[in-house]
Amino acid sequence: MRYGIPSYRLPRAVLDAEVERIRRLGVRITTGHRVEDLEAERREGGFDALFVAVGAHLSKRVDIPARDAGRIVDAISFLRSVASGERPVIGRRVAVYGGGNTAMDAARTARRLGADEALIVYRRTRAQMPAHEEEAEDAEREGVRINWLRTIKAFDGPALKVEEMELDEKGFPRPTGRYQELAADTVILALGQDSDTDFLRQVPGVEVEKDGTVRVSSTMMTGCPGVFAGGDMVPAERTVTVGVGHGKKAARNIDDWLSGRVARPSTKHPEAVFEGLRLWYFGDAHQRRQPVLATESRVSGFDEVVGGLTPAAAVFEAGRCLSCGNCFECDGCLGSCPEDAVVKLGVGLRYRFDYDRCTGCGTCFEQCPVHAIEMVPEPAS
Ligand code: SF4
Ligand code: SF4
Repeated sequence: MRYGIPSYRLPRAVLDAEVERIRRLGVRITTGHRVEDLEAERREGGFDALFVAVGAHLSKRVDIPARDAGRIVDAISFLRSVASGERPVIGRRVAVYGGGNTAMDAARTARRLGADEALIVYRRTRAQMPAHEEEAEDAEREGVRINWLRTIKAFDGPALKVEEMELDEKGFPRPTGRYQELAADTVILALGQDSDTDFLRQVPGVEVEKDGTVRVSSTMMTGCPGVFAGGDMVPAERTVTVGVGHGKKAARNIDDWLSGRVARPSTKHPEAVFEGLRLWYFGDAHQRRQPVLATESRVSGFDEVVGGLTPAAAVFEAGRCLSCGNCFECDGCLGSCPEDAVVKLGVGLRYRFDYDRCTGCGTCFEQCPVHAIEMVPEPAS
């Protein structure tokens, strides 16, 4: 729970600063406006191209026979109501159905709301759970009990009937016909989320799958010319990193499309391999520690469990990243070149090679600590 409850939200101050930064770039931001008819919006706004990036906010449901369906709630609504200051009545025993980070958050939140017993029911094994291991460990540390290889068959509060599962030869869970009874006053469903993309079904050419995801080409364009999509609503890993990447890729392709250019293949840094890093360049530097709340104080409130890095410590930690292959202006190549063929262009502007002086000895390439230099064959004259 990096940002408190629920964990998928960024702190308000970070969001506000980001919005302000985007506004200063000249981007007009409209909020509180629901898009129902994309084509009408396009016409009225005079937009030549559109990028749609709705997230995945609709909780997946599963049909659980229950005498009182009101005691089955979805995790997103539950977490949202807690985040907005409400205290939903959940009783003393809470069962959460699912094995992702949202399930862990819901169970840990239930403990903070006073549930003596918070248990998770997940149909696969611990090794197969989508939740991060540290989230599961923290949940267990806070008293959450995790029941692996179980599915919920019926809920007749407080009786919760679960079926034991076993893995088949391919690693898929299959029912065993063996049942157990657990106890729960509330069941929270945390089975994943779909995207609310119904409004795109009427747009000619846009293909919307049953789970709400939208098909896009390698340029991030949907089947409707000029309508691009990315983020949680397209089939891909649902992480912030992937979402940011989609935005960057779509921006480049929108630019190409509007300019009538053929889409350029995306250029990536060559994959950084461990052997390619010059680790001798760096001295040891201990990881900056973050304050961590004592386990016994956690469930009595919603204080941050991990206090986060100070701005200075965050910059320090970011500086140790070696995987991007980006030059960080260490001047190593500048100092090592025996021919003075490396020319420094100024802070932030990096360097250029003077090929009239360069002999191709490879010294700069060999010593670059992050493999930001490539040796390429000299073009034939
Ligand atoms: S290219 Fe490599 S050696 Fe040269 S300044 Fe950048 S990081 Fe340092
Ligand atoms: S290849 Fe050799 S000569 Fe050329 S820039 Fe690098 S260090 Fe200098």
